[in-house]
Amino acid sequence: MTTLEELKTLPKLDAIIEKQGPLFDLIIIGGGPAGLTAALYAGRARLKTLIIERALLGGMASTAFHIDNYPGFPRGVSGMDISRYFEEQAKKFGADFYYGEVLGIKRKELYYEVKIDKKDISTKTIIIAAGSESKKLNIKGENEFRGKGVSYCATCDGPFYKDKSIAVIGGGNSAVEEALYLTRYASKISIIHRRDKLRADKILAEQALNDPKIFILWNSQIEEILGAARVENIKIKNTITKKSSRFPIDGVFVYVGSNPNSKLFSNLVKLDKNGYILTNEEMKTAASGIFAAGDIRKKTLRQIVTAASDGAIAANSARIYIDSNLK
Ligand code: NAP
Repeated sequence: MTTLEELKTLPKLDAIIEKQGPLFDLIIIGGGPAGLTAALYAGRARLKTLIIERALLGGMASTAFHIDNYPGFPRGVSGMDISRYFEEQAKKFGADFYYGEVLGIKRKELYYEVKIDKKDISTKTIIIAAGSESKKLNIKGENEFRGKGVSYCATCDGPFYKDKSIAVIGGGNSAVEEALYLTRYASKISIIHRRDKLRADKILAEQALNDPKIFILWNSQIEEILGAARVENIKIKNTITKKSSRFPIDGVFVYVGSNPNSKLFSNLVKLDKNGYILTNEEMKTAASGIFAAGDIRKKTLRQIVTAASDGAIAANSARIYIDSNLK
């Protein structure tokens, strides 16, 4: 996983254009597993490829402490390591990397112009692999105590909660996996879930239910986070009895899902009602020459393995599109 500081030392856009020429075959927006796999396949197809990332290569996957369901790693792998492997392999086949923000995309006759920071870069095709970002609870105290007891990243902040009592909000794979990770630090972890059944995979749910440090508060909705300088209490409402109660807590980890980073593309491609990009099986969007891959597209299973698969298919479709339309 390339750090923010390392990314800033990557070649400048002008240097990349000087080396590659003014027209790219493919611009990949987003450097998570989908974008990095697309770069690997595009490189092997000898497409002139530029991958743009605004934060950390590896995306959300890079923050996972332990990944047990990516094939080829029978003993599991950390999110940081797997991201680094993805990155190394993509670079090996010649993709150029740039750290910056895509600000817009315009169709220009046969090509597209992508506005990156203050420059317009021309490309024959685009793969949107911009992923998603953590959903917020939007309750009182959430913003106020962010970084003061409210966290969205167990691997980053878990070590601060040694022998403390913490709450994890949510009942999906992220909440349960991160609750299990936090058992190495905290003395007590309360998973607060609004229903009476976890959404997480059975194997994770079983582990959580059998862990002596984890307690699940079923049918419970967090209403407020309270404290003075830091988080001290949370207010929880029982969704059946409708009664609210407060209990003391040292930290709150929020894992209530994610929203696709698709706003910028909403005038170009079709989105579903939740903002996910609609594609067909070849990762084609409603705009010719624009493909989407990974968590940003509408799909039934959001995993690193399916993001990688999307990326490979999208790069192959971009190659076919160029061969059929632009050669
Ligand atoms: P998710 O699967 O969408 O689950 C979000 C959880 O948060 C659900 O249990 C939901 O409750 C709850 N929730 C949503 N809004 C809430 C609110 N306002 N207040 C309280 N609870 C709320 O999200 P995720 O766990 O972040 O996972 C995202 C995707 O990544 C999924 O496709 C997941 O399978 C994948 N993922 C996979 C792995 C893995 O395979 N190891 C690890 C992490 C993530 P309800 O259940 O009632 O809707």
